Amino acid sequence: MSGTFVGMPTFPIAARAALGDTQLRHNLAHATATIRDKRAKVVAEVDGWEELRLTGAAVKDRALHDLDRHLVDLEAALVAGGATVHWARDAAEANAIVVRVARAHDADEVVKVKSMATAEIGLNEALAAAGISAWETDLAELIVQLGDDLPSHILVPAIHRNRAEVREIFLRAMGSAGRPAPADLTDEPAVLAAAARAHLREKFLRAKVGVSGANFAVAETGTLVVVESEGNGRMCLTLPEVLISIVGIEKVVPTWAELDPLMRLLPRSSTGERMNPYTSTWTGVTPGDGPQEVHVVLLDNGRTHALADDVGRQALRCIRCSACLNVCPIYERVGGHAYGSVYPGPIGAILNPLMKGTGQGGVEGAQTDSLPFASSLCGACFEVCPVRIDIPEVLVHLRSKVVDGHRSDTVPLSLSHGLEAVAMKGAAWAFGDARRLAWAEKASGLAGRVLTRVGRTSLPGGRRAAGRIPGPGAAAWTGARDLPAPPRESFRAWWRRTGGGTHDDTHGDAS
Ligand code: SF4
Repeated sequence: MSGTFVGMPTFPIAARAALGDTQLRHNLAHATATIRDKRAKVVAEVDGWEELRLTGAAVKDRALHDLDRHLVDLEAALVAGGATVHWARDAAEANAIVVRVARAHDADEVVKVKSMATAEIGLNEALAAAGISAWETDLAELIVQLGDDLPSHILVPAIHRNRAEVREIFLRAMGSAGRPAPADLTDEPAVLAAAARAHLREKFLRAKVGVSGANFAVAETGTLVVVESEGNGRMCLTLPEVLISIVGIEKVVPTWAELDPLMRLLPRSSTGERMNPYTSTWTGVTPGDGPQEVHVVLLDNGRTHALADDVGRQALRCIRCSACLNVCPIYERVGGHAYGSVYPGPIGAILNPLMKGTGQGGVEGAQTDSLPFASSLCGACFEVCPVRIDIPEVLVHLRSKVVDGHRSDTVPLSLSHGLEAVAMKGAAWAFGDARRLAWAEKASGLAGRVLTRVGRTSLPGGRRAAGRIPGPGAAAWTGARDLPAPPRESFRAWWRRTGGGTHDDTHGDAS
């Protein structure tokens, strides 16, 4: 149950399919507008929000700067608290550790609190291959799992579903996964939530092993922090005998004092709430209370690759609030699936290439390389990011890495990349020699005269646009924009003719 992102097409192909789904676009527009407005209201209440953002960014930068030291401190504190620490270089190692621990307890099922890291490594699929069922307990994740679907938002994985669709999924699939939905189920949110609660309660009480991620890991005490809104996390973290937490190494925060600004930034930026409803913290094992065996898997899986990138490492500050998704004009129209990853939207467009690497080739490489171009570079994501990740800066940086990574390809990355490469080669040839440049300037001046004459067009309101070439409707770029016509006379020609403007220049147009 639940799909996989493996083999997803490149962003432009997936986006075209998503744009044709009017129900999806309606659901997304409604949901993102609602969350966006809530966030804007509660952020406006905070005096010094900008200072708080700067503080949050500085905390994460400090943690990343000395990551090796903080991780060793975290490990020591976790072990002192009774936890077992495992280090996982990649998804395969992390999954193998979880399977081994679950098998050691003869578990044929685990309950999970929503965790991006476990979705990133494909833990559910790895557990299923080992004959172990993984039950999602977050409401939206449950909807995705029962619907044999994929998550499409960091915070609201089923944002692409409306409540009528959720009712249909519950009626159809709940029975095959445990307690069925009542036959008289309606699409009232409270009724749907009650059905999910009854379905999940059985699983919480039965499961011997719980699996979680962590929003933060405080190094000074070895304390893991999970932030959630439904209380399911609290059940997963306290009821099973064994708890396995998979924690990305970038989640470390050196001290409790440094956790404070992040805990103030996160709820307002994510759910638009002043404080978070359920914040669970646990430090190893407490005898007689909660899980008596705690395993913590510290996961790299490409994070050190991202950390090595001078420009891109700021992406590791991300606290997964999803504010950048909700303001992104691209995300709002195509949804999360088009990004082909558990990390969609603007942060996904940089995090995936940073962690997986660019210029890799193959289906997955092409999909990853398409992501930095999935943006209009409008900058809205940077404006709202609580830890000031300059996503447009990283996108531009990654675009150059993608292009560099494909310079020796015999087949261009795409038609537009191919045309751009040809144009750049032509420019390099012309600029490489003064005579060739003079010849090119003459040719472009001639073209400018012809095109300006042909291209005169009417603008709304009856105005005339001189010197603009209206784009043919079929061209992607000029279909919605006018291309400025080349000047009729080059600057050098104008200078020669007028002596730099010291005598007659009435015949030229060097604009
Ligand atoms: S990049 Fe910033 S806005 Fe986007 S999810 Fe991460 S912390 Fe939130």
